[in-house]
Amino acid sequence: MAVKLPVVVIVGRPNVGKSTIFNRVVGKRIAVVEDNPGITRDRLYSLVTWNKRTFQIVDTGGIVFEELDTMAEQIRIQANIAIDEADVVLFITDTKAGVNPDDVDLANRLRGIKKPVLVMVNKADDPNKDTLANEFYSLGLGEVYPVSGLHGRGVADVLDEIVALLPEEAEMAPDEKEEIRVAIVGRPNVGKSSLVNAFTGEQRMIVSDVAGTTRDAIDTVLEYAGEKFRLVDTAGIRRRGKIQGTVEYYMVDRAQKAIERSDCAMIVIDGHEGLTDGDKRVMKLAHDAGKAVVFAINKWDTKEPPDGEPRKMSLLKKDFLQIVSDQIPELHYAKASFTSATESAGLEPVLDEVMKAVENFNFRISTGQLNRLIQEACFSRPYTSKGKRLKIYYATQVSTRPPSFALFMNDPELFHFSYERYLLNKIRAVYPLGGTPIRLFARESHKHDK
Ligand code: GDP
Ligand code: GDP
Repeated sequence: MAVKLPVVVIVGRPNVGKSTIFNRVVGKRIAVVEDNPGITRDRLYSLVTWNKRTFQIVDTGGIVFEELDTMAEQIRIQANIAIDEADVVLFITDTKAGVNPDDVDLANRLRGIKKPVLVMVNKADDPNKDTLANEFYSLGLGEVYPVSGLHGRGVADVLDEIVALLPEEAEMAPDEKEEIRVAIVGRPNVGKSSLVNAFTGEQRMIVSDVAGTTRDAIDTVLEYAGEKFRLVDTAGIRRRGKIQGTVEYYMVDRAQKAIERSDCAMIVIDGHEGLTDGDKRVMKLAHDAGKAVVFAINKWDTKEPPDGEPRKMSLLKKDFLQIVSDQIPELHYAKASFTSATESAGLEPVLDEVMKAVENFNFRISTGQLNRLIQEACFSRPYTSKGKRLKIYYATQVSTRPPSFALFMNDPELFHFSYERYLLNKIRAVYPLGGTPIRLFARESHKHDK
């Protein structure tokens, strides 16, 4: 599911032919899998398939730069995007113009980065004049490739080279899921161990105990709905009785380690008792770990209807979620499921929630879609503080697990938490991503080099 596509980033000063080359690469002769119309140009981002490899290509020249931005600032932004996001950088230059000081500036920023940089010397329309391209060896970036974006000459060779330089498929998908790791956590007596027993007693679930990573940790593996669920450190859960009386520290430490090893924390709560301070401590722990989270509100069989009214699960469920969102607002994204370990009820629904949460934990959005979303959000509500406007130039997803986005902006100091929350809400309005936290990183990208 969440396979990260390699990214090729085009950089270069204006008028060297970036958009011409971009259009040629994504154009007729190459199968375009998906096409994202850009904002200022026809296209800024596209998926390209060449020699059976698919990659994303980004034309930084098409990214909106404010009119005020100087050449030095644009170069800095381009370089940051390349450094941050690219697997391969295409550095476009112009053979007719020769080496320009701005080319040198950009080359200085890109030299030494641990990514291949291919220097394409464009406008080499006449093969007899290819030696003119040799001048660009002085940029110190290695091989130079004379090409003509206009006529297409040389472009296929560069594409071959790009594909050869792309990371291996396996490297690109480190989190290719084999199993879903779940840490069952909660304060004592909420029913964690009973839940594990209920899961393992469930007919439809195939169960095996396997060694965990530490000597005394035993994981339990279940199969459900075609997925493997590894319940992390079930020994720690079951052994609890024997170590009763030991300090809470031991429990917390063990729970923390289990969460670290997992994709998703299943926080078990005693539905009969309601939310206690101990529960909140566990919730904070899970939230701080940045993993997917689901609530299992257990002992639901004991839930007495208030004032002898008939049981209204949905109402009670809503009440509970209201309590959670009032008291632990930072976990607003977590979904709740109701379980009864003693009656083996609600077991499949809670695993369904885990599956959804983990899928969202692995969520990936294309650069084009993300930028459109962020730019629309910034446009409909610009943010100014102390007379200075926050400008977000570019956004990119830096990782999954949880989905994390870097925002390149003029001044991270201006990025107030209220605006961060506004953007997060905008993202969740389009992609709800239930069950997973989302992270935003503010990065400075526009420094007045003075
Ligand atoms: P960008 O600003 O770097 O994206 O540059 P453009 O792609 O907009 O191209 C700038 C100008 O150079 C346009 O007039 C293009 O037609 C021209 N151009 C682009 N590639 C070539 C080429 O290979 N040969 C020639 N002769 N002109 C080109
Ligand atoms: P742990 O400390 O979180 O592992 O909790 P246990 O699994 O040891 O359960 C603590 C107590 O709650 C035991 O007496 C269980 O029988 C009881 N219990 C656990 N789950 C349920 C449930 O779903 N309904 C009811 N009524 N009791 C439960």
